Amino acid sequence: MTRKLLVAGNWKLNGSITMTNDLIVEIISGLPSSKNFDVAVFPPSIYIPQTANLVGGVVLFGGQTLSEHDQGAYTGEVSGSMLKEFGCQMVLVGHSERRAYYNESNQDIALKFQAALKHGLKPVLCCGETLEQRESRVTEKVVAEQINAVIDLVGIKAFANAVIAYEPVWAIGTGVTASSEQAQTVHAFIRSLLTLKSDTIAPLVPILYGGSVKGSNAKELFSMQDIDGGLIGGASLTSEDFLAICQQADKLSQ
Ligand code: PEP
Repeated sequence: MTRKLLVAGNWKLNGSITMTNDLIVEIISGLPSSKNFDVAVFPPSIYIPQTANLVGGVVLFGGQTLSEHDQGAYTGEVSGSMLKEFGCQMVLVGHSERRAYYNESNQDIALKFQAALKHGLKPVLCCGETLEQRESRVTEKVVAEQINAVIDLVGIKAFANAVIAYEPVWAIGTGVTASSEQAQTVHAFIRSLLTLKSDTIAPLVPILYGGSVKGSNAKELFSMQDIDGGLIGGASLTSEDFLAICQQADKLSQ
């Protein structure tokens, strides 16, 4: 089963009108004219309308999170229907920074995943263990709980329209990347977890790796059997770094 590679940039709390413009224009002009892999950006939500006007159908885009609610008295939130109204195709759910700094539980994240699907957005479900959890050898338990909480709410069929991003917390923004073997081991575990629920859905689900991906390590990571691209933080903030990763995805997609 060949899944299309996806290179996705999570800008986090970074950007400006000028940066959004320059970065997207430069990414588009640096991508191969016909490519066989997908590229997505996740800007701060306030830059989504601007992003929508710039991408010209070449780059997918989405929100970094969404409310589990459709509307109402939830100050500061953005709903799935609002993201959809501005053309988003995707949305991140359960990024480790949301889990750690905003106390999002597995159940909260499952509700957000459900809300994304309800509004026609493809959720990118982020999961991954902390260093302490890895050292205590509970990586698989933690990742299984994170994914099973979502499957329990929405069912496995919903994953036909979703992406999973395995992002070991100890590798995010630290410069420490999981080795391709370490990452593949967890990706294969995630695939087996999905297979237990449905052996027809499991092979369809793209599983991205995230955690200090760079142009220099992307090829090795993306060539692993169950690694279908990357969710990129730091290296998505300059077109040079992001395009260096896209170039590796392009070579592997020929
Ligand atoms: C992320 O936050 O999703 C991420 C992978 O960050 P970085 O690439 O900076 O490690």
